[in-house]
Amino acid sequence: MNQKIYDYQTNNDWYVGKWDKNTQLTSFESPDKLNEISLMVSQLFRLEETKGIQLHVVKFSSAISLLTFVADMVNDRYGKTLSVVNHKGAILLIEEEKVLSVYLPKEGMSFTDLFGQGELTSETIGDSILIATRNNGKTKEFKKFFAKLGIKVENLNDHPELPEVEETGTTFEENARLKAETISQLTGKMVLADDSGLKVDALGGLPGVWSARFSGADATDSRNNAKLLHELAMVLELKDRKAQFHTTLAVAAPDKETFIVEADWDGYIAHIPKGENGFGYDPLFLVGETGKTAAELSAEEKNAMSHRGQAVKKLMEVFSKWQNSR
Ligand code: IMP
Repeated sequence: MNQKIYDYQTNNDWYVGKWDKNTQLTSFESPDKLNEISLMVSQLFRLEETKGIQLHVVKFSSAISLLTFVADMVNDRYGKTLSVVNHKGAILLIEEEKVLSVYLPKEGMSFTDLFGQGELTSETIGDSILIATRNNGKTKEFKKFFAKLGIKVENLNDHPELPEVEETGTTFEENARLKAETISQLTGKMVLADDSGLKVDALGGLPGVWSARFSGADATDSRNNAKLLHELAMVLELKDRKAQFHTTLAVAAPDKETFIVEADWDGYIAHIPKGENGFGYDPLFLVGETGKTAAELSAEEKNAMSHRGQAVKKLMEVFSKWQNSR
Protein backbone atom coordinates (compact mmCIF):
# COMPACT_ATOMS: atom_id res chain seq x y z
CA MET A 1 0.00 0.00 0.00
CA ASN A 2 1.22 3.47 -0.85
CA GLN A 3 1.98 5.11 2.50
CA LYS A 4 2.65 8.55 1.04
CA ILE A 5 1.12 11.29 3.18
CA TYR A 6 -0.41 14.28 1.44
CA ASP A 7 -0.64 17.51 3.37
CA TYR A 8 -2.04 20.98 2.63
CA GLN A 9 -1.94 23.76 5.16
CA THR A 10 -2.75 27.46 5.29
CA ASN A 11 -4.10 29.52 8.22
CA ASN A 12 -7.71 28.53 7.51
CA ASP A 13 -7.40 25.16 5.77
CA TRP A 14 -5.52 22.05 6.73
CA TYR A 15 -6.03 18.61 5.20
CA VAL A 16 -4.07 15.41 5.49
CA GLY A 17 -4.63 12.45 3.17
CA LYS A 18 -3.35 8.99 2.32
CA TRP A 19 -4.46 5.96 0.36
CA ASP A 20 -5.38 2.80 2.27
CA LYS A 21 -7.80 -0.13 2.15
CA ASN A 22 -10.83 1.72 3.46
CA THR A 23 -12.35 4.99 2.41
CA GLN A 24 -12.61 7.35 5.36
CA LEU A 25 -13.42 10.98 5.90
CA THR A 26 -12.82 12.47 9.33
CA SER A 27 -12.73 16.02 10.57
CA PHE A 28 -12.16 18.21 13.59
CA GLU A 29 -14.84 20.50 12.13
CA SER A 30 -18.54 20.35 13.11
CA PRO A 31 -20.74 17.43 11.91
CA ASP A 32 -22.50 19.90 9.55
CA LYS A 33 -19.24 20.84 7.87
CA LEU A 34 -18.24 17.19 7.67
CA ASN A 35 -21.56 16.48 5.87
CA GLU A 36 -20.97 19.34 3.47
CA ILE A 37 -17.45 18.13 2.68
CA SER A 38 -18.60 14.56 2.18
CA LEU A 39 -21.40 15.71 -0.15
CA MET A 40 -19.01 17.81 -2.25
CA VAL A 41 -16.45 15.03 -2.63
CA SER A 42 -19.09 12.44 -3.50
CA GLN A 43 -20.79 14.72 -6.03
CA LEU A 44 -17.65 15.79 -7.83
CA PHE A 45 -15.68 12.52 -7.91
CA ARG A 46 -16.56 9.00 -9.03
CA LEU A 47 -16.75 6.41 -6.28
CA GLU A 48 -14.09 4.18 -7.82
CA GLU A 49 -11.62 7.12 -8.00
CA THR A 50 -11.83 7.92 -4.35
CA LYS A 51 -12.08 4.34 -3.09
CA GLY A 52 -9.48 3.92 -0.35
CA ILE A 53 -8.97 7.62 0.16
CA GLN A 54 -8.43 8.57 3.79
CA LEU A 55 -8.96 12.23 4.28
CA HIS A 56 -8.69 14.07 7.54
CA VAL A 57 -9.84 17.69 7.55
CA VAL A 58 -8.29 19.56 10.47
CA LYS A 59 -9.58 22.98 9.35
CA PHE A 60 -11.88 23.85 6.47
CA SER A 61 -12.84 27.12 4.83
CA SER A 62 -12.27 26.77 1.08
CA ALA A 63 -14.25 24.18 -0.91
CA ILE A 64 -12.10 24.72 -3.99
CA SER A 65 -8.79 24.07 -2.26
CA LEU A 66 -10.16 20.93 -0.57
CA LEU A 67 -11.50 19.56 -3.87
CA THR A 68 -8.21 20.44 -5.62
CA PHE A 69 -6.40 18.53 -2.87
CA VAL A 70 -8.56 15.44 -3.57
CA ALA A 71 -8.04 15.85 -7.36
CA ASP A 72 -4.25 16.03 -6.85
CA MET A 73 -4.35 12.83 -4.77
CA VAL A 74 -6.38 11.05 -7.50
CA ASN A 75 -4.02 12.38 -10.21
CA ASP A 76 -1.00 11.20 -8.27
CA ARG A 77 -2.41 7.70 -7.76
CA TYR A 78 -3.98 7.08 -11.17
CA GLY A 79 -1.83 9.29 -13.44
CA LYS A 80 -4.86 11.40 -14.33
CA THR A 81 -4.94 15.11 -15.19
CA LEU A 82 -8.05 16.18 -13.30
CA SER A 83 -8.32 19.84 -12.44
CA VAL A 84 -10.86 21.73 -10.40
CA VAL A 85 -11.95 25.19 -11.50
CA ASN A 86 -14.12 27.84 -9.99
CA HIS A 87 -16.71 29.15 -12.46
CA LYS A 88 -18.80 31.99 -11.03
CA GLY A 89 -19.40 30.09 -7.79
CA ALA A 90 -19.87 26.63 -9.36
CA ILE A 91 -17.06 24.12 -9.00
CA LEU A 92 -16.21 22.08 -12.09
CA LEU A 93 -14.14 18.91 -12.35
CA ILE A 94 -12.35 18.99 -15.70
CA GLU A 95 -10.12 16.57 -17.54
CA GLU A 96 -8.57 17.75 -20.79
CA GLU A 97 -11.48 19.00 -22.95
CA LYS A 98 -14.26 17.52 -20.78
CA VAL A 99 -16.28 18.69 -17.83
CA LEU A 100 -16.72 15.54 -15.73
CA SER A 101 -18.96 16.93 -13.00
CA VAL A 102 -20.25 20.10 -11.44
CA TYR A 103 -20.88 21.08 -7.84
CA LEU A 104 -23.32 23.95 -7.57
CA PRO A 105 -23.67 26.46 -4.72
CA LYS A 106 -26.60 25.73 -2.37
CA GLU A 107 -28.61 28.69 -3.68
CA GLY A 108 -28.25 27.53 -7.31
CA MET A 109 -27.10 29.60 -10.29
CA SER A 110 -28.65 31.44 -13.21
CA PHE A 111 -28.43 29.73 -16.62
CA THR A 112 -26.32 32.46 -18.16
CA ASP A 113 -23.89 32.44 -15.26
CA LEU A 114 -23.46 28.70 -15.60
CA PHE A 115 -23.50 28.29 -19.38
CA GLY A 116 -22.66 31.81 -20.59
CA GLN A 117 -24.14 33.42 -23.68
CA GLY A 118 -21.55 32.39 -26.25
CA GLU A 119 -19.91 29.08 -26.88
CA LEU A 120 -17.79 27.77 -24.04
CA THR A 121 -14.53 25.87 -24.47
CA SER A 122 -11.93 24.70 -21.97
CA GLU A 123 -10.08 27.92 -22.87
CA THR A 124 -12.93 30.26 -21.97
CA ILE A 125 -14.56 28.41 -19.09
CA GLY A 126 -13.54 29.10 -15.52
CA ASP A 127 -12.29 32.19 -13.77
CA SER A 128 -8.93 33.65 -14.63
CA ILE A 129 -6.76 36.37 -13.22
CA LEU A 130 -4.52 38.67 -15.22
CA ILE A 131 -1.20 39.37 -13.51
CA ALA A 132 -0.07 42.90 -14.36
CA THR A 133 3.48 41.95 -15.28
CA ARG A 134 5.46 40.88 -18.34
CA ASN A 135 7.81 38.88 -16.13
CA ASN A 136 7.15 35.17 -16.79
CA GLY A 137 9.11 34.10 -13.69
CA LYS A 138 6.83 36.12 -11.42
CA THR A 139 3.78 34.80 -13.29
CA LYS A 140 4.89 31.21 -12.79
CA GLU A 141 5.00 31.73 -9.03
CA PHE A 142 1.46 33.15 -9.01
CA LYS A 143 0.27 30.30 -11.25
CA LYS A 144 1.35 27.79 -8.63
CA PHE A 145 -0.69 29.54 -5.93
CA PHE A 146 -3.81 30.22 -8.00
CA ALA A 147 -3.92 26.64 -9.36
CA LYS A 148 -4.85 25.61 -5.81
CA LEU A 149 -7.92 27.83 -6.08
CA GLY A 150 -8.91 26.56 -9.54
CA ILE A 151 -8.13 29.91 -11.14
CA LYS A 152 -6.23 30.25 -14.41
CA VAL A 153 -3.46 32.79 -14.73
CA GLU A 154 -2.43 34.99 -17.65
CA ASN A 155 -0.07 37.96 -17.85
CA LEU A 156 0.51 41.08 -19.96
CA ASN A 157 2.39 39.07 -22.59
CA ASP A 158 -1.03 37.58 -23.45
CA HIS A 159 -2.30 41.14 -24.01
CA PRO A 160 0.22 43.04 -26.15
CA GLU A 161 -2.46 45.65 -26.92
CA LEU A 162 -2.39 46.99 -23.34
CA PRO A 163 -0.35 50.13 -22.56
CA GLU A 164 2.42 50.31 -19.94
CA VAL A 165 1.03 51.81 -16.73
CA GLU A 166 3.49 54.36 -15.32
CA GLU A 167 4.27 53.83 -11.63
CA THR A 168 3.65 57.45 -10.63
CA GLY A 169 2.61 56.78 -7.00
CA THR A 170 4.72 57.63 -3.98
CA THR A 171 3.71 54.55 -1.99
CA PHE A 172 3.75 50.84 -2.82
CA GLU A 173 -0.03 50.72 -2.37
CA GLU A 174 -0.67 53.62 -4.75
CA ASN A 175 1.42 51.97 -7.46
CA ALA A 176 -0.07 48.49 -7.02
CA ARG A 177 -3.62 49.94 -6.99
CA LEU A 178 -2.95 52.11 -10.03
CA LYS A 179 -1.71 49.17 -12.10
CA ALA A 180 -4.45 46.74 -11.00
CA GLU A 181 -7.34 49.20 -11.35
CA THR A 182 -6.21 50.70 -14.69
CA ILE A 183 -5.79 47.31 -16.33
CA SER A 184 -8.99 45.96 -14.82
CA GLN A 185 -10.92 48.95 -16.21
CA LEU A 186 -9.35 48.51 -19.66
CA THR A 187 -10.02 44.76 -19.87
CA GLY A 188 -13.02 44.14 -17.60
CA LYS A 189 -10.94 41.36 -15.99
CA MET A 190 -9.84 40.47 -12.48
CA VAL A 191 -6.28 41.82 -12.24
CA LEU A 192 -3.50 41.37 -9.70
CA ALA A 193 -0.65 43.87 -9.53
CA ASP A 194 2.30 43.99 -7.18
CA ASP A 195 4.79 46.60 -6.19
CA SER A 196 7.89 45.69 -4.24
CA GLY A 197 11.09 47.26 -3.07
CA LEU A 198 13.72 47.61 -0.40
CA LYS A 199 13.34 49.94 2.59
CA VAL A 200 16.49 50.81 4.53
CA ASP A 201 15.97 52.27 8.03
CA ALA A 202 19.17 54.37 8.00
CA LEU A 203 18.02 55.96 4.72
CA GLY A 204 14.55 56.85 6.04
CA GLY A 205 12.92 54.02 4.03
CA LEU A 206 14.76 54.65 0.73
CA PRO A 207 15.10 53.35 -1.94
CA GLY A 208 11.45 52.26 -1.35
CA VAL A 209 9.22 52.74 -4.38
CA TRP A 210 12.30 53.96 -6.28
CA SER A 211 14.17 50.64 -5.76
CA ALA A 212 14.32 49.74 -9.46
CA ARG A 213 15.54 53.21 -10.45
CA PHE A 214 17.68 54.06 -7.39
CA SER A 215 20.86 54.76 -9.38
CA GLY A 216 19.13 56.87 -12.03
CA ALA A 217 17.62 56.51 -15.48
CA ASP A 218 20.20 53.93 -16.64
CA ALA A 219 19.91 51.90 -13.41
CA THR A 220 20.99 48.25 -13.35
CA ASP A 221 21.02 45.84 -10.40
CA SER A 222 24.77 46.28 -9.92
CA ARG A 223 24.62 50.09 -10.11
CA ASN A 224 21.75 50.10 -7.60
CA ASN A 225 23.74 47.86 -5.25
CA ALA A 226 26.84 50.06 -5.61
CA LYS A 227 24.79 53.17 -4.81
CA LEU A 228 23.25 51.49 -1.77
CA LEU A 229 26.72 50.55 -0.42
CA HIS A 230 27.91 54.09 -1.05
CA GLU A 231 24.93 55.62 0.81
CA LEU A 232 25.61 53.33 3.78
CA ALA A 233 29.39 53.77 3.78
CA MET A 234 29.33 55.70 7.07
CA VAL A 235 26.96 53.25 8.78
CA LEU A 236 29.49 50.75 10.02
CA GLU A 237 27.69 48.49 12.46
CA LEU A 238 25.42 45.80 11.07
CA LYS A 239 22.78 46.50 13.72
CA ASP A 240 22.37 50.00 12.24
CA ARG A 241 21.92 48.64 8.69
CA LYS A 242 18.41 47.24 9.24
CA ALA A 243 16.23 46.87 6.14
CA GLN A 244 13.05 45.24 4.90
CA PHE A 245 11.98 43.96 1.54
CA HIS A 246 8.35 44.97 1.08
CA THR A 247 5.55 43.77 -1.22
CA THR A 248 2.08 45.17 -1.69
CA LEU A 249 -0.41 43.16 -3.76
CA ALA A 250 -3.59 44.71 -5.15
CA VAL A 251 -6.43 42.73 -6.75
CA ALA A 252 -9.00 44.72 -8.71
CA ALA A 253 -12.15 43.53 -10.48
CA PRO A 254 -15.10 45.33 -12.03
CA ASP A 255 -17.71 46.39 -9.41
CA LYS A 256 -15.57 45.30 -6.47
CA GLU A 257 -13.54 47.09 -3.84
CA THR A 258 -9.85 46.62 -4.59
CA PHE A 259 -8.29 44.24 -2.20
CA ILE A 260 -4.82 44.94 -0.72
CA VAL A 261 -2.36 42.75 1.19
CA GLU A 262 1.20 43.51 2.16
CA ALA A 263 4.18 41.85 3.79
CA ASP A 264 7.71 42.69 4.93
CA TRP A 265 10.83 40.54 5.10
CA ASP A 266 13.33 41.71 7.73
CA GLY A 267 17.07 41.77 7.32
CA TYR A 268 20.26 43.83 7.22
CA ILE A 269 22.34 45.33 4.43
CA ALA A 270 25.69 43.51 4.16
CA HIS A 271 28.99 45.32 3.64
CA ILE A 272 29.88 43.27 0.56
CA PRO A 273 27.65 41.42 -1.94
CA LYS A 274 27.45 37.60 -1.63
CA GLY A 275 25.65 34.85 -3.57
CA GLU A 276 24.67 34.22 -7.17
CA ASN A 277 20.90 33.57 -7.01
CA GLY A 278 17.90 35.87 -7.09
CA PHE A 279 17.98 39.38 -8.51
CA GLY A 280 18.02 43.06 -7.53
CA TYR A 281 19.34 43.71 -4.03
CA ASP A 282 19.45 40.01 -3.05
CA PRO A 283 23.29 39.83 -2.85
CA LEU A 284 23.27 42.62 -0.21
CA PHE A 285 20.24 41.52 1.81
CA LEU A 286 21.26 39.51 4.88
CA VAL A 287 18.27 37.42 5.87
CA GLY A 288 17.37 38.02 9.52
CA GLU A 289 20.11 36.64 11.73
CA THR A 290 21.07 33.76 9.39
CA GLY A 291 24.29 35.34 8.08
CA LYS A 292 23.20 34.36 4.55
CA THR A 293 22.17 36.81 1.86
CA ALA A 294 18.96 36.30 -0.11
CA ALA A 295 21.19 35.54 -3.13
CA GLU A 296 22.60 32.52 -1.23
CA LEU A 297 19.14 30.94 -0.87
CA SER A 298 17.57 28.58 -3.41
CA ALA A 299 14.41 29.83 -5.14
CA GLU A 300 12.29 27.53 -2.92
CA GLU A 301 13.99 28.72 0.28
CA LYS A 302 13.51 32.33 -0.76
CA ASN A 303 9.84 31.88 -1.73
CA ALA A 304 9.09 30.22 1.60
CA MET A 305 10.10 33.31 3.57
CA SER A 306 10.30 36.28 1.22
CA HIS A 307 8.09 39.37 1.27
CA ARG A 308 6.41 38.18 -1.97
CA GLY A 309 5.88 34.63 -0.67
CA GLN A 310 4.35 35.92 2.58
CA ALA A 311 2.08 38.39 0.76
CA VAL A 312 0.83 35.66 -1.59
CA LYS A 313 0.11 33.38 1.40
CA LYS A 314 -1.95 36.15 3.01
CA LEU A 315 -3.75 36.73 -0.27
CA MET A 316 -4.68 33.06 -0.62
CA GLU A 317 -6.18 32.99 2.84
CA VAL A 318 -8.73 35.68 2.11
CA PHE A 319 -9.04 35.52 -1.66
CA SER A 320 -12.05 33.17 -1.93
CA LYS A 321 -14.03 35.26 0.55
CA TRP A 322 -13.23 38.45 -1.40
CA GLN A 323 -14.10 36.80 -4.72
CA ASN A 324 -17.55 35.80 -3.47
CA SER A 325 -18.23 39.25 -2.00
CA ARG A 326 -20.26 41.78 -3.98
P1 IMP B 1 9.03 45.01 -8.42
O1 IMP B 1 7.99 46.00 -7.98
O2 IMP B 1 8.74 43.61 -7.97
O3 IMP B 1 9.34 45.10 -9.90
O4 IMP B 1 10.38 45.42 -7.66
C1 IMP B 1 10.99 46.70 -7.81
C2 IMP B 1 12.46 46.64 -7.44
O5 IMP B 1 12.62 46.30 -6.07
C3 IMP B 1 13.24 45.59 -8.21
O6 IMP B 1 13.72 46.10 -9.45
C4 IMP B 1 14.38 45.28 -7.24
O7 IMP B 1 15.40 46.25 -7.37
C5 IMP B 1 13.73 45.45 -5.88
N1 IMP B 1 13.22 44.14 -5.39
C6 IMP B 1 11.93 43.77 -5.21
N2 IMP B 1 11.84 42.52 -4.76
C7 IMP B 1 13.11 42.07 -4.66
C8 IMP B 1 13.68 40.83 -4.25
O8 IMP B 1 12.99 39.85 -3.90
N3 IMP B 1 15.02 40.77 -4.25
C9 IMP B 1 15.81 41.79 -4.64
N4 IMP B 1 15.35 42.97 -5.04
C10 IMP B 1 14.00 43.12 -5.04
